[in-house]
Amino acid sequence: SHIAELIAVGTELLLGNIANTDAQMISQGLSELGIHVYYHTVVGDNPARLRSAVEIARRRADILITTGGLGPTCDDLTKQTLAQVFGRELVFDEPSAQRIRSYFQRLHPDRPMTENNLQQAMLPEGCTIFANDWGTAPGCAFEAEGVRVIMLPGPPRECRAMFTHRALPYLRALADGTIVSRTLKIFGMGESSVEALLRERMNAMTNPTLAPYAKEGEMELRITAKAPTEAEARDLIAPVEEELRDLLGDVIYGADVKSLEEVAFALMEAQGLTFGTAESCTGGLVAKRMTDLPGASAVLKGGVVSYTDEVKHNVLGVPQALLDQYGAVSPQVAEAMARGARRVLGCSLAVSTTGVAGPDPDDRGNPVGLVYVALAGAEFCHVQELHLGRGRAMVRSRASLHALDLVRR
Ligand code: ATP
Ligand code: MG
Repeated sequence: SHIAELIAVGTELLLGNIANTDAQMISQGLSELGIHVYYHTVVGDNPARLRSAVEIARRRADILITTGGLGPTCDDLTKQTLAQVFGRELVFDEPSAQRIRSYFQRLHPDRPMTENNLQQAMLPEGCTIFANDWGTAPGCAFEAEGVRVIMLPGPPRECRAMFTHRALPYLRALADGTIVSRTLKIFGMGESSVEALLRERMNAMTNPTLAPYAKEGEMELRITAKAPTEAEARDLIAPVEEELRDLLGDVIYGADVKSLEEVAFALMEAQGLTFGTAESCTGGLVAKRMTDLPGASAVLKGGVVSYTDEVKHNVLGVPQALLDQYGAVSPQVAEAMARGARRVLGCSLAVSTTGVAGPDPDDRGNPVGLVYVALAGAEFCHVQELHLGRGRAMVRSRASLHALDLVRR
């Protein structure tokens, strides 16, 4: 299988002025294709150092992708340098020149184009030209001595479009067969536990491969298979998915789905259920996540941000005695909030959140990160006690995910 190396060219990257977001974007795309990336290199606008980075990269990768340095200014030296390393001449490409002229005209109808812009139409002889419909500098790809070289412009918007619409099709054509991936989404089990469970299995796998990704309190496991046809690739994925579902159980909340809220929404919609929230420490985050979904009103009736005891009592009808006896951060109050929300919002299911988001413990000495979430239905109410660590943003975000997870379960 292929190994790619990314070489980002730009002194501003080395100075720390900007982050290498192009590399992140490209790496994501390559991993979806099952192309391994072992190294990211960053080098300044310096031909000698770029040359040495390329010399090193070509020995350990068979696909080199450069970003940046394709523009018209004198520090844009990527093409010259790469062409030189691989013994190619740069030749003038008239169609690219035409594109550059007309792009320039559209952008600056009042100014003549300076000749240095046509430098961008100089491309390695015999290369595949990647026409740039999002900027001026064309990209290109060529093969030399067993190495594929791909050059993309640096500005992130152009780089993304050129990678997606030009480089990816080129790379897909390299991979004989089809690559299919399926992403299992996990909530409620930490990255390290999942990895510990799967590490050996993962390392032993070659087709399909299994790759974990941690994401804001959630995890993804991506199964990627390569086969002559899509159906055959799916046949390779299915038994692995089954094995993972057996192993991990219901922490897997979906496959190829976007989010927990999407799954919760779909479940409630399918059953004709309506939904409401009573939120204290999450301050509306659960409702926010639901309303991120277009068409949320088919399920969500509304929400109460009941941040104070007063509102918990006056709006949700949480008995004052409960608040006095147990305090707002208690399973009793979480339950009363969820039941109250169900009643005042007239919905079939309601969740509540109440907890200590921090930075300091509450006045009853409850620690930061202690949160209760509850789900009330007509004949039940489940309460869950959570310990969500530190950091106000993280506690709140995780609490809102747990509340949605209760709905799914
Ligand atoms: P241009 O035609 O704009 O000169 P270029 O291909 O020559 O494009 P550079 O001059 O190297 O690219 O970079 C242009 C701008 O793109 C930089 O100022 C920077 O803001 C951004 N950029 C370059 N490389 C990266 C990168 N790897 N990640 C994120 N942004 C980048
Ligand atoms: Mg430039």
